[in-house]
Amino acid sequence: MTRFNFDVITLFPKAFELINNLGVITRALEKNLINVNLHDLREYGEGNYRQVDDKPYGGGSGMVLKPEPIYKAHDSIDKLPNSKTLLMTPQGKVLKQQDLLRWSSLDQLIIICGQYEGFDERVRCLADEEVSIGDYVLSGGEIPSISIINGLTRLLPGTLGDPGSLIDESHNSSLLEYPHYTRPLVFKEMRVPDILVSGNHEEIKLWRKQKMLERTLDRRNDLISKEDYKKIPKSKRINRDSNEIMKFRIGNGYDIHRLVEGRDLIIGGVKLQHPDNLGLDGHSDADVLSHSIMDALLGALSLGDIGKYFPPSDQKWKNADSLFLLSKVIELIRKEGWEVNNIDSVIVAERPKIKPHVQLMKNNISNTLQIDGSFIGIKATTNETLGPEGREEGISCHSVVLLEKKE
Ligand code: SAH
Repeated sequence: MTRFNFDVITLFPKAFELINNLGVITRALEKNLINVNLHDLREYGEGNYRQVDDKPYGGGSGMVLKPEPIYKAHDSIDKLPNSKTLLMTPQGKVLKQQDLLRWSSLDQLIIICGQYEGFDERVRCLADEEVSIGDYVLSGGEIPSISIINGLTRLLPGTLGDPGSLIDESHNSSLLEYPHYTRPLVFKEMRVPDILVSGNHEEIKLWRKQKMLERTLDRRNDLISKEDYKKIPKSKRINRDSNEIMKFRIGNGYDIHRLVEGRDLIIGGVKLQHPDNLGLDGHSDADVLSHSIMDALLGALSLGDIGKYFPPSDQKWKNADSLFLLSKVIELIRKEGWEVNNIDSVIVAERPKIKPHVQLMKNNISNTLQIDGSFIGIKATTNETLGPEGREEGISCHSVVLLEKKE
């Protein structure tokens, strides 16, 4: 006896020839695990022309499938005791692995494929469930219904050579599957992780579990329920792509440069005059304020520090204008989908007096980052003659930034 029956109502039965060339699905057909009965909607059309569609009431573009042929086709199908009717529509509930699993215990799915602009609203009454295969619009319900036939058939006992392959795979639990490797061991300098060739099955199991969690956090945070999310160690919850759970990121930056003779003293893009004609030493212009803000921005997204992006070994950045470097960093932050909420910085310098120049520094930072000056705090303090800043060996700066995920 056939294990599962698909009855499909479609205007394009030929589209289903594809399932005769789909590997394991085709074998399931041959082994009689499934039966796919195609019901050509045209045969149920009206009049000499077998009309199946008509213009929409109220005007508008395109043609709409008439209700009578679809009802007639549906009536003609023998219903098995455990049967459901699915209507393919982009307005339906988006298909999940759990749905396939749920339907796989039925005897029969009747699938109605729309075409053109869709179908008369009254067709919806035939459906037990309305199903979409994703938030995009195709020209007909044939490909969605082939997806369902394919996805459900591979769950039926006897279809897959190794039923074990169903256990760990993506969407079976709420986690995505771990990465797979096969030979060769090294390909284009990319090596298979050592653990997989260690032969230690316990360790491999743990590694795979860990990868499933990391992958899901990284790619599909939305799949993890709020309850499960709480069970994940806090240190693992960080996910740059998630705007569901993480809306804010905080970053902290610190920089210090040595005071020397023969160098300019530039802070926040402003050239200052030191009473002893000292300036800040460094590969770039050694602007501690801009540097600490850059580090805070990068740090907020765990992107490393400025040394990674503008290494001192690179001559390109010799005496570079740090405001220019800052403009590059903010570009990166925005590309990652984040926006600056606010910045707070404190410059630690014994001399010269910083306060009279703060407004100018603020203007420079605000112009570079393209954010309003009211979201930028710049303060200055002496170190009470203590430490390297107090002894005028150097000038330092601390910055904190708050980033907000863009909608
Ligand atoms: N105007 C309709 C879409 C018509 S697309 C609307 O906005 O809802 C034509 C037919 O293709 C639909 O009736 C449906 O059967 C099928 N279809 C298109 N996209 C689909 C999707 N994402 N999931 C399931 N069926 C889809």
